[in-house]
Amino acid sequence: MDRDSRVFVAGHGGLVGSAIMRRLEREGFTNLLTATRSELDLRHQAAVSRWFQDHRPDHVFLVAGTVGGIMANSTRPAEFIYDNMMIHGTVVHAAHESNVSKLLYLGSSCIYPRDAHQPIDEEQLLTGPLEPTNEAYAIAKIAGIKVCQSYRQQYGSDFISAMPTNLYGPNDNFDLTSSHVLPALMRKFHDARSTDDKIVEVWGTGSPMREFLHVDDLADACLFLMDNYSDVGHINVGTGQDLPIRELAEKIRDVVCGEAELRFDPSKPDGMPRKVLDVSKLNALGWKPSIELDEGIAETYAWFLDQLATDSQVRGA
Ligand code: GDP
Repeated sequence: MDRDSRVFVAGHGGLVGSAIMRRLEREGFTNLLTATRSELDLRHQAAVSRWFQDHRPDHVFLVAGTVGGIMANSTRPAEFIYDNMMIHGTVVHAAHESNVSKLLYLGSSCIYPRDAHQPIDEEQLLTGPLEPTNEAYAIAKIAGIKVCQSYRQQYGSDFISAMPTNLYGPNDNFDLTSSHVLPALMRKFHDARSTDDKIVEVWGTGSPMREFLHVDDLADACLFLMDNYSDVGHINVGTGQDLPIRELAEKIRDVVCGEAELRFDPSKPDGMPRKVLDVSKLNALGWKPSIELDEGIAETYAWFLDQLATDSQVRGA
């Protein structure tokens, strides 16, 4: 990407989009294009096509969507499937219509079968049934991959797909009903600091295994792939290392509220037993993450405190 390329970040206000924006600004990109939800409803093809005609982006990061943790996914499947299928379709189609030179679509590691072999390589897509707690979202995300592949196949469009593992970092959603586990536990331990009993409820058994990637590492990988990857197959983005939710909770406790006590609630869903990506394809291209989980948790909590102290712009807190 040239520094004067017209770059559209679809979803610039979210966890991923804001990290990509920070990174592009740091790299000196000057023609950054964004549209807020009230300016452009990405679910409406006519509006999206028109916006592309008016703004003529050269490069597109398609990182917009309706996202959430295990509870939001399992209780709001209609929103997750409709919003995401529409957004992926409209943006990719408009990018084709207006001859965008390259588009990167971001999926999710939940596209893989529930019983996938671990670590999960790219070839395991569509080899078995999905995890029921996020099936609707996963179907929409798989459709997004297939949309990109189909436009490449039929029109020769340079549209690529990256599948990130569980993400965290600044600008995450800290709302306890819709967030993912890492920001949820950070918020719960933070709230426990001002209670007497200091008990923190952790959903499920604590035994599911998850992998966590700092969103600044993901942004780095997205820019790397935009410049270095052009193929029909999707590519995993992660650390390749996972840990049990119990250990994650202990790490967050140690940073946020050392004296807190964990209490597991097995009536809440565990979801997928294990979800760790095989990242050898990306590593072979020469990319590796650089932010360790301990460092990332400490940094994200510092950001959270800073936000609370300054302008309270923390989603859900
Ligand atoms: P998933 O990776 O799609 O399952 O998404 P989540 O990040 O929402 O959940 C990951 C795991 O953390 C699941 O096993 C959850 O049950 C567990 N977990 C433990 N406590 C919490 C919590 O407070 N919020 C969320 N979202 N998950 C939690």
